[in-house]
Amino acid sequence: MTRKIAVLAGDGIGPEIVAEARKVLDFLNTDMDLELSFEEGLIGGAAYDEHSSPFPAPTVDLVKGADAILFGAVGGKKWESLDISVRPEKGLLGLRSELELFSNLRPALLYPQLADASTLKPEVVSGLDLMIVRELTGGIYFGQPRGVKILENGERQGFNTLVYSESEIRRIGHSAFKIAQKRNKKLCSVDKANVLECTELWREIMDDVAKDYPDVELSHMYVDNASMQLVRAPKQFDVMVTTNMFGDILSDTAAMLTGSIGMLPSASLDANGKGMYEPIHGSAPDIAGQGIANPLATILSAAMMLRYTFDLGAAADRIETAVNDALDKGVRTSDIYSDGMTKVSTSQMGDAVLAELK
Ligand code: NAD
Repeated sequence: MTRKIAVLAGDGIGPEIVAEARKVLDFLNTDMDLELSFEEGLIGGAAYDEHSSPFPAPTVDLVKGADAILFGAVGGKKWESLDISVRPEKGLLGLRSELELFSNLRPALLYPQLADASTLKPEVVSGLDLMIVRELTGGIYFGQPRGVKILENGERQGFNTLVYSESEIRRIGHSAFKIAQKRNKKLCSVDKANVLECTELWREIMDDVAKDYPDVELSHMYVDNASMQLVRAPKQFDVMVTTNMFGDILSDTAAMLTGSIGMLPSASLDANGKGMYEPIHGSAPDIAGQGIANPLATILSAAMMLRYTFDLGAAADRIETAVNDALDKGVRTSDIYSDGMTKVSTSQMGDAVLAELK
């Protein structure tokens, strides 16, 4: 069985960081006989330059035929003046909707070696390891009706609709419980069931889905409390599952607990576990081409791909351990550099992880 990976490096630092993730995957592919195969495609500005579209037909075919997608980043000054319909970022949105990637996984993991990078006290965040599962294709960002209308008295009124069908809640629920099973088997569902009927239904369905996962402990929390608990005592959480908008906000808070954008991977999955894996940061045009970007978020995204799409937990563990060991040796790209450490380039960081793997 070949495991097909579409590699979309994109723009800016995308090609630099994806190259380092490839180094790691190529090594493990041979070392552990993983049967991974890779095919590269164009996305974003790079695709626009070649095909006048940020998500051209050959890339659509490539991702549809793949089991997983390794994605760098898209966007940059060069394409900012284009019509919004063909801007690089549209390529990413097109990919998400084409593949129905409704389950967005955003881990926040703080390596103890980097605890000083957080604005929170080291004892609060050191060793933090939580996962936010955000519903990505429904809720208030997509609900109809929406718009701005003029009332009878001439005043304008803006409105959006929070809407979730039972099946949408059920599928994100199953996705989150399955992830909790692969972690510490604790799931916290975040809602506003005391005020919003839609999330009262959310809570009811989560309780129902829980019956299929007796090994996972489910709890519920209101979103206002969850935001408070995330900065007060974030280590109480293992996996959190929530709606599109609540997840948007809470996952950025969780990401910033770790203090370093260059360290954080993410995944977006469909109902069958097919997924797109990417660092949470963008194309960083300010440092592109200088060989100084941190490739660890992308390398850790590759680890997530092995774990969540291919169920290769042992291989994923090896990558995560190698990243930890490389940090232990004191190598740091400039974004995570502190006194006394060894400053390294993008490719040297990739090599350092590879050396630990070997
Ligand atoms: P950004 O994440 O690209 O950069 C923010 C800051 O973090 C910059 O100072 C950058 O140098 C730094 N940074 C980001 N990744 C880094 C890494 N791996 N190592 C070291 N430093 C890193 O966000 P931005 O500047 O707001 O956006 C730049 C471009 O990226 C825009 O065109 C934006 O639309 C696009 N973008 C794309 C994605 C994506 O492809 N998923 C996500 C966000 C932004």
